[in-house]
Amino acid sequence: MIDETLTMIPGPTPVHPRILAALSRPTVSHVSPAFVQTFRRALQDFRDLLQTSSGQPVVVAGSGTLAMEMALINVVAPGESILVVSQGYFGDRYAELASAFGIRCDVLRSEWGRAPAVEELSRKLAAGSYAAVTVTHVDTSTGTAAPVEAYARLLKGRPELFILDGVCATGGIDEPFDRWGVDVLLTAAQKAIGAPPGLALCLFSTRAIQRRRARSSMPAYYADLLRWLPVMEDPSRYYSTPCVNEIVALSEALRIVHEEGLAARFARHTRIAHAIREGLDALGLKIFTAPDCRADTLSVVLLPPGVDDVSFRKETAARGAVVAGSLGPLAGKAFRLGHMGNIGPAEVETTLGAIEGSLRAHGLKVASGTAAAAAAHELFGAKEELVPA
Ligand code: PMP
Repeated sequence: MIDETLTMIPGPTPVHPRILAALSRPTVSHVSPAFVQTFRRALQDFRDLLQTSSGQPVVVAGSGTLAMEMALINVVAPGESILVVSQGYFGDRYAELASAFGIRCDVLRSEWGRAPAVEELSRKLAAGSYAAVTVTHVDTSTGTAAPVEAYARLLKGRPELFILDGVCATGGIDEPFDRWGVDVLLTAAQKAIGAPPGLALCLFSTRAIQRRRARSSMPAYYADLLRWLPVMEDPSRYYSTPCVNEIVALSEALRIVHEEGLAARFARHTRIAHAIREGLDALGLKIFTAPDCRADTLSVVLLPPGVDDVSFRKETAARGAVVAGSLGPLAGKAFRLGHMGNIGPAEVETTLGAIEGSLRAHGLKVASGTAAAAAAHELFGAKEELVPA
């Protein structure tokens, strides 16, 4: 059975047919000239997405968690201390990951649904001594976007390395690597970039690479930046077999990003986020995340009283769109709706229609088409009237 239900979870996201076609091209040698050229172009396109001239991309088989690991353990040694800025589950994951490698860490944590204020970060930096600071751009558990630009201004020129987890942002929200002075950006293929899951992506600054070079040992083999660097500089070199088809698919996904244009792509994500929230609001649903830090890539939506989480998601899926459950303290109380990657008005309409139908199936009184009509204003710039049948 082929399941064509829309995948509107916060990653993986719907994969465009062009990217699926690229994925299904015949598998070729990882050192064939055609593949080497494609890999090279993907690396350059990734650099361009992050608007960097000197950042060094590293793309390996894995997921976002491997990217988190690579980003950290190449630049911070066991025994050193880091500051983890956390606004949710994935920020906390960084603290756990650090501990697994004997890296000491201090956590600056906000309440769920908010992000730590820049003043709090400033106080922490003044009081402690850290080799690096990790920041989660968008925490997928809470739908919260951190004020990264303000953090970046604070961190610029300081000795701590700036590690940015862009897993739920890269490709949907602007992340100017050089301008922000990021040292390591990490992300994954399956979210706003719009490729299938399977690739861990990192971008290292010159300063970050120097930190790795200055060390004589590394608590990893596959994840060692220095073993991958020759391949990333010249993809005809071998270290460990790259996943050929995934990289061809990533290359196509990044082509789509640049054909759309960065400014247009980020603006589309903002527009769709607003449209979806207008639609949800018209249904009487409340967003969990504080208004001033809602991410453009997903929404965390509180379930109305009495509506069971599992049953709500089942009825929504039956109407054509899969949404995700929630994590941690929100489990069972909210659902997470991804709106990133290669989606447009049709996906927005189907998803809002499915949510609306599911609410009706749970006894809520909402007129058919309510959400789509509210979203249309944001999407098309015109208020659509509900026309009685
Ligand atoms: N960081 C963030 C912000 C994430 O949202 C996720 C995954 N949802 C991860 C890291 C981990 O990525 P993965 O599941 O691909 O290992």
